[in-house]
Amino acid sequence: MHDQQEKWRMEEFVTACPRNCYSTCTFKVQVENNRIIRILPYSGNLATPEGPCIKGLSYIERTNSSERIIHPLIRMSSGEFKEISTKEAFDIISDKLGSIKEKWGSHSILWYKGSGMSGLTNEIGSAFWKAFGGTTVTYGNLCWSAGLEAVRLTLGSVKHNVPWDLVNAKTIVIWGKNPAETNIQEIAFIAAAKEKGSTIIVIDPLRTPTADKADILFSPKPGTDGALALAIARVLIDYNLVDYEFVAKYVKGFEEFKLSVNITLSEAELITGIPEENIIDLAHIIGSNGPVTILPGYGLQRHLNGGQTIRSILLLSVLTGNIGKSGSGFNYANLQSYIFDDIKEPESYYPDPENDNPFRRTISMAKLGADMLNTRDPELKAAWIERGNPVLQSPDTNIIKRAFSDLTFIVAVEQFMTDTASLADIILPAKDMFEQSDIIGSYWSPYIQFKPGVIHPPGDVMPESEIYFHLAKRMNLNISKELIPEPGNDNIEKWLEDRSRGFSEITIDQLKTAPLIATGLQEIAWEDMCFETPSGKIEIYSSEAMKKWGVSPLPDYSGIIHSPEEEKFPLEFITPNTGSRIHSQFGNLKIIKETNTEPVIRISPLDANKRCISTGQKIRVFNLNGELISKVKVSNRVPSGLVVFPNGIWFNEGGGVNKLISGMETDIGFGAAYHDNRVEIERVD
Ligand code: SF4
Repeated sequence: MHDQQEKWRMEEFVTACPRNCYSTCTFKVQVENNRIIRILPYSGNLATPEGPCIKGLSYIERTNSSERIIHPLIRMSSGEFKEISTKEAFDIISDKLGSIKEKWGSHSILWYKGSGMSGLTNEIGSAFWKAFGGTTVTYGNLCWSAGLEAVRLTLGSVKHNVPWDLVNAKTIVIWGKNPAETNIQEIAFIAAAKEKGSTIIVIDPLRTPTADKADILFSPKPGTDGALALAIARVLIDYNLVDYEFVAKYVKGFEEFKLSVNITLSEAELITGIPEENIIDLAHIIGSNGPVTILPGYGLQRHLNGGQTIRSILLLSVLTGNIGKSGSGFNYANLQSYIFDDIKEPESYYPDPENDNPFRRTISMAKLGADMLNTRDPELKAAWIERGNPVLQSPDTNIIKRAFSDLTFIVAVEQFMTDTASLADIILPAKDMFEQSDIIGSYWSPYIQFKPGVIHPPGDVMPESEIYFHLAKRMNLNISKELIPEPGNDNIEKWLEDRSRGFSEITIDQLKTAPLIATGLQEIAWEDMCFETPSGKIEIYSSEAMKKWGVSPLPDYSGIIHSPEEEKFPLEFITPNTGSRIHSQFGNLKIIKETNTEPVIRISPLDANKRCISTGQKIRVFNLNGELISKVKVSNRVPSGLVVFPNGIWFNEGGGVNKLISGMETDIGFGAAYHDNRVEIERVD
């Protein structure tokens, strides 16, 4: 009888994880009495049949957490926060924004959006800020835009074969990627391919959990992947391993490339640390053991030469004819499910001087702090932060903090007291993924998914769409309900329905039952061999690369030249992602803390011995930008010359890698060159 009663109260929904993560897992969520009680796998999504990772499972804690901010907070002169009513918060915000606009103009307000939660409803904010009179926003991207632009320049658009096609590859080259932690669903396909006899090659300076699964492991020095790729290309040409028929038919610029690629194997060995004979072996596997799929990660393009690096690696798929066929490809990102976007990434990240005014003025995402400080006419006076944690996650923390302290008013829409929220004047409590319906795509799988609102938000939590609705009313901004729907999840679903009109195959009702394959999907990307480049061919030679970005029209390699001051800091510093966090999200949860070891800085035994450092001690990592102190682990998984500390670790856990990172843009795509910073380390006794 008791079970029967429980059954009546309990409801189950199919939903999808909206994090900035490859997988966009579909899963089932059970709800009882307005509480998330259980998360279960959903096998109907061919890309994610195994169900969510530990972060997905942690949603039960995250949603119900007593540490969630569920009422508006105001910062007192003492620095402490105190709860206020929503009405009080809206009164203060509308007064402040109104007076700042009157005095300095609307562009004196920075509207900063991170990637904390994806979904079509994120568009709603721009209607508010347009009606407000415009604002300052960021251009570029912290994560992946150099690589996106490299792929777009070469192939015309950014896509790849469906994830499950990976099992048809005879060779899989996992290059600077650690899917065992950051794309666990892909590991299942890699394992299946291996079972069928595929050769798994990992190229990574670090001995990652993915590297443990490799048949062959190559460990180039960080930032030298472009040189390795060009040397492999040289061998492909010299040993007649190029697919000449494919190249003649579909490729522009091969002859120019052939003449330009002059790196010798001995030079490549010196630059990369990979012995000549290994480079020759690697080229022979890629050139003769196809179909080959290359899985590049995002870390290897977070360098000043990151765009050209990705163009150079992609070149290997092109020269060997591994594009447009089953089992082959270059799986950087698959934007085929982004069907609702008029302008897709990376182009949507770029400033558009002709069309921006008066709505937006742009400053650099990668150089946020410096740009905030240097912006004039008008200077920045206020910031509105949503879905992001720039104080922790943007390069150059000390400059960012200075820029924030110069502002007269900061609003953060947040779920937890993050390092950014703690600097705000007003914090508005942010919705959780289960508290509003939305439609989301994926940058890896081909599905479009519905994420239903399944519980009412706690306390005074409001989705951003409702925050903007109420503020617009209070400020007498004239916005139609087509642009900002009235409060209530039914109205959001109606808005989503209108937004998806025009795609007859994709209706909300259909989406509510199961994830849907994107309209017009190519399971095998470019199987039609139509490339949306200016020439209609794959462009090894890209005039646009030269015109738009000022780089060589051909893939090339330039080493990073450090200033004499930087030369005093002998160690390279890299900040990868881990399986337990999406950047700065999830790490604050108990389940994550209990199931993961404490974050540590990792260094090699050689570097540790030189400085008398042992595992478990605290060390100081420092350079001209700043310093951080945290516990160290001496690990033979780290090569000498390298210091590794994951990004996303909060200041109160000893984190904050961006204290050491300069704000620098990548060669193309306005990405952030996180991985070209040098440091020194010392024991803290
Ligand atoms: S974080 Fe990624 S792998 Fe984990 S549940 Fe979400 S989409 Fe899936």
